[in-house]
Parts: sequence; C-alpha cells; structure tokens
Amino acid sequence: MFVRGTLRLGRIAGIEIAVHPSWLLIYALFAWSATTYASAEYHELTRAGVITLGLVFSLALFASVVLHELSHAIVARRLGIPVGNITLFLFGGVASILREPGAPADELKMAAAGPAASVVIALACLLITLLLPARWAWASDLFSLLAISNAALAVFNLLPAFPSDGGRILRAIIWHYRNSQARATQIAGAASLVVATLLVGGGLFLAFAGERVLGTGPTTMVKGWWWILIGLFLGQAALASMRGARVSLILESMPVGECMARTLIPVPTTTTIAGFIAQMAVGGRSAGYPVVDDGAFVGLVTLQDTAAVPHVLWPQTPITAVMTPSSRTPAISAQMPAFEALETLDSRHIGELPVFENGTLTGVVSKETIFAALHARGKAQS
Ligand SMILES: [Zn+2]
Repeated sequence: MFVRGTLRLGRIAGIEIAVHPSWLLIYALFAWSATTYASAEYHELTRAGVITLGLVFSLALFASVVLHELSHAIVARRLGIPVGNITLFLFGGVASILREPGAPADELKMAAAGPAASVVIALACLLITLLLPARWAWASDLFSLLAISNAALAVFNLLPAFPSDGGRILRAIIWHYRNSQARATQIAGAASLVVATLLVGGGLFLAFAGERVLGTGPTTMVKGWWWILIGLFLGQAALASMRGARVSLILESMPVGECMARTLIPVPTTTTIAGFIAQMAVGGRSAGYPVVDDGAFVGLVTLQDTAAVPHVLWPQTPITAVMTPSSRTPAISAQMPAFEALETLDSRHIGELPVFENGTLTGVVSKETIFAALHARGKAQS
C-alpha cells in the first residue's frame, strides 16, 4: 500500500520509514496552526522561537506516530512475521506487516503494542509537564498537548473497528474462542460496521445540529465532518476485510478432496519434455501429471516447470530435470482443509501438491484447482 509516490526518510531498527505526500500536507497544516497559536499565546517568545515551537511540536507528533507503528513492527518481527516498511499518510501511519499472524496470541501482542507505546509516551509527556517549572508555560503546554495527542492516538486506534488495532484485538479474542480466524474476522468486521455507522451518525448530528443543540462553536461542524470521514473510511475497510473472510471461510470448510484434479496422467521418468508437451495436448487442462518410475510416484510436473528450458532443448531434456521431486512435495490428505493446502503451497513456493488417500495417489492440488473450485461454488450459489 502507498508504495508509489512515497518519500523514503531512512531506517530505524532496520525498518524503513517513508512518508506519503498527503502526510506533508498535514504536517504543514499542524506546524502552521501550532505557530499561529504560539504567537498569540506566548508573547515572551521571539518570532523565530514561535516558528521553532510550531515545527518542533509537529515533529514530535510525527515521531509519536512513528513510535506507535514501530512498536507494531518490532513485535511482529520478534514473532517471526516479516515486516515491510512504515508509511505515514493523511490518517496517520501504517506498518506493512507482510503476513497475517498464525495464532490469536500473536495477533493480540502485535495489535496491542502500538496503543501501549502511545500510552507510555502520553504518560512520559504528562510527567515532564508536571516536572517543568511554572515560568516555562510554553514548554509545559507543548508537553501536555503531546500527552493529549498520544492518548487520543491510543483511544482512536483502540476503537473496535477492524482492521484497526482495537478491531484486531477483538478479532484475536473471538479467534481464540471460536478457533477460526475467518469466522472471527467476520464477527469483528460486523462490529466495525456498527462503530462506523455510529461515527457517521454522530458526525451528521454534529455537522448539522451540533452547534444549535449543544450550544457550541463552529468547530463542532468541522469535528462532525471529521467523524463522518473517519466513519466512512472505517466502514469501507471493514467491508473489504469481511469480503476477504468470506473466501477464507469457504477455504476452511472445503476439504482438499473437493478441489483437486482427480484426472491423473502418469508420466514415466524416461519421458522428455517434448514428449510430455505432446502428451499434455491430449490430456486436457484439468489434469495432474505425476512422474512415475515403474509405477512408483517420484515427483510432479506442470507446464510452468518446462518454461525454464529453451524449446530447442526439449527433445533431449528428461522430465526428471524439471519436475518437483517427491522429496520436496509433502503429501497431504484429501480431508485436509483447502486453506491449509494453500498455506503449504505458499510457504514452500511450489506449484502443486500430491494428495494421497489410504497410501494411494488420488489427486493433485494447486492454486488453480482450488480457485476453480471456489469459482464453481460461487457460480452454483449465485
Ligand atoms: Zn496501531
């Protein structure tokens, strides 16, 4: 996400930090409002002092968001989950965690790390405010504002709106009790929709009736529009994760036996690539090709495997040179959920897996056969 058009700032603890141009806009806006506020409030400061204060405050806010995201990223990395970069954009920051956590406890630790960091920063700023001498009103204001901002960052992120931190914590808890990540995502997604609807509803009230009913100033309307914007953003994110979960849910309940190629065309080890291609043309697309030596399974071969060899060498290259040997393809059972087969295919970077029933090879499963089965199911339901 946001890989294009971002500016790289550098690395902290080996994790790259980048900013999206939209963040620069927000940064300038914050620095400008902080400077305007400071020049009106602190007459003891010089013009240069006021501008420095504005820039320092905005930089400190920026650092707070980076520390929040960095905590997520560092915990993820400790749990062995690969981390991309941290990108700051209009709504804050996002640490790109490249894989979903495998267990609810991991998800809980990862999600809680960010808000925990924000709470610690808020408490530290509060402590500094209390320790500063009374004559440094500007410094004490700066730190109390930072304390409030970090507390707000923690609270906003803890809203139970998946995929926010609070939504992830909620999902981890449901996942722990229901033992299904996909089911938990759907429930957490539904809760997020409720939160998003409340935000939009509250925002509409503040924007159109807040000033009159609550007797507050015109900033109430601006606040209302922010609520609406955030509500819509959260609602759309929740709907997207629920859609993804629906597919995962089917994959969790569909056994490999329902989504594998059952037409197997054995390829003897003596076959050349040219011979295999000729055989494929007859066999059709929805078949698996186990390589056999005297009837015994020794590996799997696909059309893609042949792509690495130039055409002119096809007549003399044996199929065993390009096949995935059985030592690299863990055998799976027809009862295994398609979800797990997909994970095995991904983690091992292989195209196909042999499926055995009572010790006999009865099918071959690949991403193509799984998606074809999903597609067929989708068609049957609609
Ligand atoms: Zn977070």
